[in-house]
Amino acid sequence: MARTFFIGGNFKLNGSKKSIAEIVDRLNKAALDVNSEVVICPPAAYLDSTVQAVTSKQVSVGAQNVYVKASGAYTGENSVDQIKDLGAKWTILGHSERREYFKETDQFVAEKTKFALDNGVSVILCIGESLEEKKAGQTLAVVEKQLTAVIAEVKDWTNVVIAYEPIWAIGTGLAATAEDAEEIHASIRKFLASKLGDKVAEEIRILYGGSANGANVASFKDKKNVDGFLVGGASLKPEFVDIINSRK
Ligand code: PGA
Repeated sequence: MARTFFIGGNFKLNGSKKSIAEIVDRLNKAALDVNSEVVICPPAAYLDSTVQAVTSKQVSVGAQNVYVKASGAYTGENSVDQIKDLGAKWTILGHSERREYFKETDQFVAEKTKFALDNGVSVILCIGESLEEKKAGQTLAVVEKQLTAVIAEVKDWTNVVIAYEPIWAIGTGLAATAEDAEEIHASIRKFLASKLGDKVAEEIRILYGGSANGANVASFKDKKNVDGFLVGGASLKPEFVDIINSRK
């Protein structure tokens, strides 16, 4: 089964009403590859206006994080029910910035993934190793540990997309090579097959993230285990359209 090419745009804590409206307008007007599925994830404060502004059928909107409760006394958190109420269909979870700065553990990410899925929100699940871990040859051990926590909680992986994002590549301009990404994605798929069966492993999309841009994504084109990209910095720029169209 061919996996649909998937491009996520992670705006992080960037943008304004004006600049995000401009990004959406650009996507609405662009001739996007009809075979690409696109999910843009603005800051929570702009989810509503972003959903309202998107006209392209192939562009959905996602949050960058949600909490493990849908309502209650949890000051400052994002609710799956509320983002759904606004029309968002996805959320990023487990981004390395949340793991690092907000001390999110593998277990917490796993619980949030289960909660989001149980409540009808699809998940872009981020995994990836630090530079020290890479140097120590621990890349696979790290991503397998991150995945193992989620596997213990989540039985149905239909609405999950995995984003392999090596931390050393995020925002640094130093993307992984397409060959290295392919090798790790293939190993991740093999690991998923051993835990969840061949069908799940074959169907799940595994994105690459970390300094993906309009110029370097072409090199991933023939990599059969790279099913798209999670794009940070470049998703704010016109080249995001080139990334979406990089399989054309
Ligand atoms: P980057 O970020 O494309 O700016 O490196 C990717 C991400 O953090 O999702």
